[in-house]
Amino acid sequence: MSKKPSNPKNWKAATLGIHGIDRVEHAHYAVSTPIAHTSNYYFNNTQEVYDFMKAKSEGRVIREHEYGRYGNPTQTECERKLAAVEGAERAVLFSTGMAAVILTIMTFMRRDGHIIFTSDCYRQTRDFAANLLAEFGIKVSMADPTAEAIEKAIQPNTNIIFTESPTNPYLRCLDLPAVVKVAKKHNVMTIIDATLATPYNIRPLDLGVDVVIHSATKYLGGHNDLLAGVALGSDKLVNDIYRMQRMIGATPGPLTAFLLERGLKTFGLRMKHHNEAGMAVAKMLEGHPKIEKVWYPGLDSHPDRAIAKAQMKGFGSVVTFLLKGDDAKTRKFIDNLELFLITPSLGGSESLVTQMWMMSFFDYPEDYRKKIGMSDNLVRLALGLEDVDDLITDLQQALEKI
Ligand SMILES: *Cc1c(COP(=O)(O)O)cnc(C)c1O
Repeated sequence: MSKKPSNPKNWKAATLGIHGIDRVEHAHYAVSTPIAHTSNYYFNNTQEVYDFMKAKSEGRVIREHEYGRYGNPTQTECERKLAAVEGAERAVLFSTGMAAVILTIMTFMRRDGHIIFTSDCYRQTRDFAANLLAEFGIKVSMADPTAEAIEKAIQPNTNIIFTESPTNPYLRCLDLPAVVKVAKKHNVMTIIDATLATPYNIRPLDLGVDVVIHSATKYLGGHNDLLAGVALGSDKLVNDIYRMQRMIGATPGPLTAFLLERGLKTFGLRMKHHNEAGMAVAKMLEGHPKIEKVWYPGLDSHPDRAIAKAQMKGFGSVVTFLLKGDDAKTRKFIDNLELFLITPSLGGSESLVTQMWMMSFFDYPEDYRKKIGMSDNLVRLALGLEDVDDLITDLQQALEKI
């Protein structure tokens, strides 16, 4: 595009989600990114092939696309916008969040290394760490989500710290500058799954984290209508991750990339609403006589309130709570909700509700389930974009009925 903005890096998340940093010229002067639905990209003659291959072997890029598993133009443009929003040199998009998590870990794990994960993490990440990695013979430790516990878990061969912040479902927030300090002291790389925070609320790369991952299925996509993941960081680290991705082929389709980029156009607006809804609902629940306990980093009662306040702009729209009552009462409450859909996931336009033990931990033995805090009356809300007063009214009427 002819008009180059003078200082786009100073733009805020809402603006970057719409314009990115490097605007790209489209065919027909189209404002939105075309969906390039093709599996391969042709060359006009063998000289073009030769020049392309030669440049590639020397690490130069003279044209971007050749074969769909290696990426598509819609994806590339979406990656540039995501990198702009996160303040990263580069982003690589995946078909799912879990593909981003696992392939990023596989890129950097070493046979003789050791990886620290933090507890209270995403169920599938926990299972990957505890079961699959162990079967590959990779040494793994689980630490509480604090910088002190992580430092205690460090061994001479530790090479990766993998954490989430906020965690799910208790929304524990890690003191990221403190974690980075520990990691640098011991020469360990840090990877953070910041799906629940989003770059609207915190930019971990600005704080020294090496690689940030998001399930773009959640807030970045924002409409409960796509699956995608993204890893972001320096050119060098993301290029290493990309080598793994293009080999394995967890590549998002062009339509997914289009929908995700479209979602980014309302990212700032949506996050503002999500943050406001989370705060209002958490406060209402905390003051309600039928609620035992609420976890939300915007409440003074949350264990990591001070950390969250110091490093985050807002706290998102996941609110976790214990209802006063047993399994039957909890189910009755959920079944009486009218606006909330009973389904996992978060960060979309529709509000969602899950009874944690049943949706995510059904196959765990009951005593282990209770040990990790998955009691029968633990409920997680993922507030959507509906009017906040309507959501509160709905929650109140369902609580009245128990
Ligand atoms: C949903 C989620 C994932 C997995 O993402 P998918 O897109 O479902 O593969 C990973 N981490 C966190 C924190 C999530 O919420």
